[in-house]
Amino acid sequence: MDSSDDEGEEYLFKVVIIGDSAVGKSNLLSRYARNEFNLHSKATIGVEFQTQSMEIDGKEVKAQIWDTAGQERFRAVTSAYYRGAVGALVVYDISRSGTFESVTRWLEELNTHSETTVARMLVGNKCDLDNIRAVSVEDGKNLAEKHGLFFMETSALDSTNVKTAFEMVIKEIYNNVS
Ligand code: GDP
Ligand code: MG
Repeated sequence: MDSSDDEGEEYLFKVVIIGDSAVGKSNLLSRYARNEFNLHSKATIGVEFQTQSMEIDGKEVKAQIWDTAGQERFRAVTSAYYRGAVGALVVYDISRSGTFESVTRWLEELNTHSETTVARMLVGNKCDLDNIRAVSVEDGKNLAEKHGLFFMETSALDSTNVKTAFEMVIKEIYNNVS
């Protein structure tokens, strides 16, 4: 926090996106930050984070949202990735149950690396693929409830709930610190 600005306090929060490979993490971020979607996206090496602002209580709140840039394929998301994170989106793909089964492991990894309260949301992405759904909404809700997470199904492809999901996490972080 920095109060050098005449207009009041400034907030900058680090948010991480985790989850198995190809669940749509990079596309959720590009949809939120740039309103872009890529059908054939490859793991982008190099792009570490995007910064996005929103207003809460008349204050500018900035979120620095980190993408794994494909590290998760090697099951080795580094501790630097988690360092200082105060929010997390834990993403699975509703059309692949294996990615849902991995959620618990991702949550454990997150817990291991976090030093403070982390606002966490479970995100069932690719809800546009309802015709090949492998994880029910109910199962998603139940898992979220069990671990005390927010829950939302999203689609980076058609934009469903993407903005809402990120903004809910950012608002919760704000509530946690203010
Ligand atoms: P990441 O490995 O978790 O970063 O996943 P990507 O963002 O690279 O996405 C993996 C693949 O899933 C790409 O082919 C995307 O086009 C596709 N994808 C991502 N989000 C969605 C979505 O909401 N709906 C559908 N149908 N495909 C998606
Ligand atoms: Mg990616």
